Amino acid sequence: MASTPFINIHSHSRSTESDTIRVYNCIIGKDEDPVGLFSAGIHPWYINEDLPEMQLSELFVLASDDKCIAIGECGLDKLKGSAPDLQESVFRSQIEMAAALEKPLIIHCVKRFAEVLHCLEAENFGGRFMLHGINTNPENIKPFLQMQNAFFSFGTAVLQPGSNAETIFKSLDPEKCFLETDDRSTDIKNVYFRAAEIKGMSVNELSDQVLRNYKKVFVHGIDRTK
Ligand SMILES: [Zn+2]
Repeated sequence: MASTPFINIHSHSRSTESDTIRVYNCIIGKDEDPVGLFSAGIHPWYINEDLPEMQLSELFVLASDDKCIAIGECGLDKLKGSAPDLQESVFRSQIEMAAALEKPLIIHCVKRFAEVLHCLEAENFGGRFMLHGINTNPENIKPFLQMQNAFFSFGTAVLQPGSNAETIFKSLDPEKCFLETDDRSTDIKNVYFRAAEIKGMSVNELSDQVLRNYKKVFVHGIDRTK
């Protein structure tokens, strides 16, 4: 029997990994057109400040593609990128688009968790969303833990013993978890091996669980494992 593929839910690399379903993240206004499964969004660092509407139209075309499984990464960043008001309006437009296209959101958030929550609530967003690259003070994500439509993705930060990522991942319901390499060149399998160790699960149990989560959150009746 073939073993369960490793889902790498968020990667900026175009190269392939064996035994892996990798979701390539395409940043509108920065990256070339995607190949294979992808997510697409306007990252708060790469907003075209003169023509955000043009970027949104460009995103809409890509996001309507069947191979686009999520809108994002998009979100809010306190440390880098455009002015807060513009970040917020471009994020809110993408929340709206995700709702219209019935696709989940992949959210980038740096030190703006309360504001991200505010935007989701203001847009009355009822779809599923995933906060990616979790490595923050556990207090910051507390409000999201109660939400049935919230999911969390962890990258190479779990490889560092004692990191916030490790602490949060350890206590999080496995049904809420995803793993990613983001912009790192690490093999996703290293993240799975360490993550399984932290959870006290076998690598197989963990990859089975993440595959179930993937089907629940990102696959809507279409076989996106191909
Ligand atoms: Zn990323």
